[in-house]
Amino acid sequence: MKIPFMTLARQFAALKPEIMAACESVFSHGRVLSGPEVAAFETNLAGFFGLPHAVAVGSGTDALVLALKALGIGAGDRVAVTSLSFVASASAIRLAGATPVFVDVEPIYGQAQEAALLELINDGRVQAVIIVHIFGQMMDLSRIRPAALARGVRIVEDAAQALGSTRFGVAPGHNSDATCVSFDPMKVIGAYGSGGAVLTSDPALRERLARLRYHGHAGGRVYTEIGHNSQLPTVQAAMLDIKMRQEPAWKQRRQAIAARYDAALNARGDIRPPAVQEGNVHNYHKYVMTVGPRRDELAVWLKERGIDTTVHYKYPLHTQPCFEGQSETCGAMPVVTALVKDVLSLPMFPELTDAEVDYVCQALEDFPA
Ligand SMILES: *Cc1c(COP(=O)(O)O)cnc(C)c1O
Repeated sequence: MKIPFMTLARQFAALKPEIMAACESVFSHGRVLSGPEVAAFETNLAGFFGLPHAVAVGSGTDALVLALKALGIGAGDRVAVTSLSFVASASAIRLAGATPVFVDVEPIYGQAQEAALLELINDGRVQAVIIVHIFGQMMDLSRIRPAALARGVRIVEDAAQALGSTRFGVAPGHNSDATCVSFDPMKVIGAYGSGGAVLTSDPALRERLARLRYHGHAGGRVYTEIGHNSQLPTVQAAMLDIKMRQEPAWKQRRQAIAARYDAALNARGDIRPPAVQEGNVHNYHKYVMTVGPRRDELAVWLKERGIDTTVHYKYPLHTQPCFEGQSETCGAMPVVTALVKDVLSLPMFPELTDAEVDYVCQALEDFPA
């Protein structure tokens, strides 16, 4: 059997008639940018998060950059961010003109260390914090939010991996200034291309985001500030709306697959499945096991059996060359440095068949102890 880490072909096969009808409809009316489907998608997306406003943009990265800029974060500012994430969580800070301050993670959930974030906020060392809900599980903001409010520190949630996740029943976006999502094809709801959105409950922020995504245009051919050209194409909005309707079923399927992987790993006892924090609904965007020193050995074992795996993430962000001389770290980074050597991600997408999941579980069980 050959099991890819991820494939989009099966999803398209299932949704093809609806997707093609959406394309035909948008291409026929011809408003391929700023079409009515974009506004409809924004309304539906905001409703999904239980928030009043969503501003669709060209990518998840742009969502982060524009959110920081709209909040007034730029040159001379410092922004705290985890060292365990996709590069965009931190490169967005540089693109907004500010400096990332990397923090270490705790070893169980892979989230930024709360104590380090609180210290940076309370010491006035950062003007904003990017909270990454890594792998699809939300981070607790109940202590960070009041500390940030007291200090005038902005919070941006990077929910690129956490669409459909909740914490005590609440979606991302309710304990921050702005929340960013990504519709990269590899995310739980993916466009046929790039896409992203910023969610907020602040109408003034919504207005500024809408200007910043299109040249600072304030209407009537007046441009009030230097902006980007970062639009979600109408056809992408139309197709994303179709996919959003599948979100609950797709999440349920990923959770069922995760439960079977969990059982296979728990039967062994020497490989730790992803831990779920009390109160959290994990969307299992990524299924990240903590293997330990035999990580590479297990990856080869699975590869020999036709099962693709990957590592999230291979290198801590504070060690990436692009940030050299353009970032700071909050103390030593021992946990993330060790963790990236121990983790391995299994294939995780809703179209995996039961036979494929069983096959992966069997290969995990057969890996010599
Ligand atoms: C994917 C991702 C992004 C960037 O989103 P794009 O749409 O690819 O630009 C940012 N942060 C995290 C955590 C991501 O996983």
